[in-house]
Amino acid sequence: MSASEAIVQYARVAIPVPLGQAFSYIVPPEVAGDVRRGARVLVGFGKSRRVLGVVIDVGTEAPDLPRSKLKPLLAVVDPEPVLEDELLGFLQELARYYVAPIGAVIELALPAVERTAAEALAKREAFAVKNALGRMVLNVSAVPTITVSEKLSEQARALRSHLLAHGPVTIPELGKTWRSARSIVKRLQGLGLVTLERVEERPDPFFAKVVRDIPPELTPPQAEAVARLIFALEAREKQSFLLDGVTASGKTEVYLRAVERALQLGRGAIVLVPEIALTPQLVTRFRARLGDRIAVLHSGLTDSNRHAMWRALRRAELKVAVGARSALFAPVHDLGLICVDEEHDGSFKQEEGVRYHARDMALLRAHRAGAVCVLGSATPSLASVALARSGRLEILKLPARAHATAVLPNVEIVDLRQIGPGPGGDRLLSLTLFRALQETLKRRQQAILFLNRRGFSPSLICGSCGHLVRCPNCSVSLTLHRSRGVSLQCHYCDYSTALPEQCTECKAMRLVEEGSGTERIESTLQQVLPAARIARLDRDVAAGAKSEAVLDRMRAGGIDILVGTQMVTKGHDLPNVTLVGVLNADSALSMPDFRASERTFHLLVQVAGRAGRGDTPGRVLIQTRQPKHPAIAYALRHDVPGFIEQELGDREELRFPPFSRLALIRFDALEEARALAECERIAIIARNAAPALVEVLGPTPAPLARLRNRYRFRFVLRAVERKPLRDALLAVARASVHRLVRMAIDVDPVNML
Ligand code: ADP
Ligand code: ZN
Repeated sequence: MSASEAIVQYARVAIPVPLGQAFSYIVPPEVAGDVRRGARVLVGFGKSRRVLGVVIDVGTEAPDLPRSKLKPLLAVVDPEPVLEDELLGFLQELARYYVAPIGAVIELALPAVERTAAEALAKREAFAVKNALGRMVLNVSAVPTITVSEKLSEQARALRSHLLAHGPVTIPELGKTWRSARSIVKRLQGLGLVTLERVEERPDPFFAKVVRDIPPELTPPQAEAVARLIFALEAREKQSFLLDGVTASGKTEVYLRAVERALQLGRGAIVLVPEIALTPQLVTRFRARLGDRIAVLHSGLTDSNRHAMWRALRRAELKVAVGARSALFAPVHDLGLICVDEEHDGSFKQEEGVRYHARDMALLRAHRAGAVCVLGSATPSLASVALARSGRLEILKLPARAHATAVLPNVEIVDLRQIGPGPGGDRLLSLTLFRALQETLKRRQQAILFLNRRGFSPSLICGSCGHLVRCPNCSVSLTLHRSRGVSLQCHYCDYSTALPEQCTECKAMRLVEEGSGTERIESTLQQVLPAARIARLDRDVAAGAKSEAVLDRMRAGGIDILVGTQMVTKGHDLPNVTLVGVLNADSALSMPDFRASERTFHLLVQVAGRAGRGDTPGRVLIQTRQPKHPAIAYALRHDVPGFIEQELGDREELRFPPFSRLALIRFDALEEARALAECERIAIIARNAAPALVEVLGPTPAPLARLRNRYRFRFVLRAVERKPLRDALLAVARASVHRLVRMAIDVDPVNML
């Protein structure tokens, strides 16, 4: 036996394929020194594919496979590991928790450009790899000379003084002010007045320059919370906190101070926000305080910008990442702090691919990294409350609004069973609400109206036979839209059709529009309040950056009444909003979901929190037919602890989380019988895996029984302990499912549809 044979090394490599865990390869001796945990390698997969994977570990222990089946690694891609040990270890644990393939989990942490580069490399297109990495731009600097040629144009002169005042600026940046920047620069360069340098495009997000702010003096509760967090940071305590502060109590200021301290200590931070397009204000505040030291990760970034950001973080040139749930996977070096703003928000749950919950996983990543984690909310989730009660989260309280004059608004119920419609005749624009709007307009203040239904009318019904017009692909009714041409649309698939003239069943010509969506409310308001400036904010008007434009207009006072869906309930800080109307509180309550009550309560308190944030007290009207429902009754009194007690009692009785753990196993197929058969078969496997300790609820058809032409069935696993639930899940994950049926495992499900 030769010496080289004696020291054969094997690498376990995570590959982005939907199957299983990591795959083993032989490490050729010539690259052995470069094959490290976290490094990317090129490997052969299957018969002829080459794919890129990330090395999970390297060792001399031979895998339990015949040597002839093992292939060697083909190449090592990076001299430095792409993923630090801390992040890679976290991803492995996340994969374990969600019973998700490690390759798919690792993709969460690699930006698209890294992946494109990887694919290009897999095809040996070296050129493409080079181009995919960061865009190069020209940086222009002025050469300070005293004598300037007389022949300079006005523009050239101005551009040059701009450069002298503001240092090196890129040509695209100059182009924003001087349309012919490129030719002016060329001329200045010819005269030796400027120099050019090729640099990588700065990882600058689309947020323009912001003015530095002056930190306010902290309120006593803020000061106490900040002191506690700073103590934990300095002592490197692995502590997690629940920052329980009413709306507008200044939670953001607390995050800012903690992040600043982490930076002073040389450590990095991650700040997670629900939907970044809807929280430009929060980002602006971070930039105003921390300047360019932060990477803002949002969906508006180009791939190359995102990649530049990722690399700047990876090299610790930037130390703070702010973004929606996926920012949890930012390669922040020496992570010291994670803040999760509005931790109760449902958008932290990813609902496709790897179904992770960014709030739960923030606690995990922080704990493993030895970092401090802060979950903030005015309406803490029951999950976090339960963690606080078990001692795993320490509570920090901000009991009052930060501005001395801002008080919590007055919340009133409008009982739709008793109060009739206002002049427009729409049931959801009650007389009480109409009068309140008139008063608000008279005082030149602003109003927000919230309705959880976009479109003009949520359904179309035959006035003769009662037939409901449904989507041909999904088990839901079609919504009538009018704003961009009349059409019927499915809100679950892409189906859209013209408005039929007659009922398909009885041929009667009497199709009746039932109910109101945001479009109809907007148009009715326009009629009954012709002088008011009315705008709508929902997914139809506002994708990404557009919603920001609407919010900016609202902030600037260009809108009197803003009508919208959930988008209007998020953490906007609009001081002139003094009236908030919840048009139909009952719609959220009627969802077939054990969290319907909790979600409605959060929604009501949050939307109410948009009122009276400035110096004038606010008024909130909640329209409902169930004024006694706890979610509504407690919201009326801003009684968060009261609601929590009541709801925890109900959950305990029904043995739902946080008193148990759930996993939802979904099956869907084009053929109904096949989906059901597989669902039933796998349910038995799950039942047998942990008979006494795991309950199997179902199989049943999903509440949304058909979606995009596929029939949907599911069963739910419920257990008190994590271990038996995990055993059952592993049995499910290992079972092979018919190739025409899709199975998805959702651990700690949020969306029960
Ligand atoms: P939250 O995140 O709790 O909803 P914000 O951080 O948005 O609250 O603060 C609400 C308002 O109070 C903001 O306009 C903010 O600038 C202001 N604010 C926060 N802290 C203070 C403070 N210590 N003194 C004065 N104003 C403050
Ligand atoms: Zn549909």
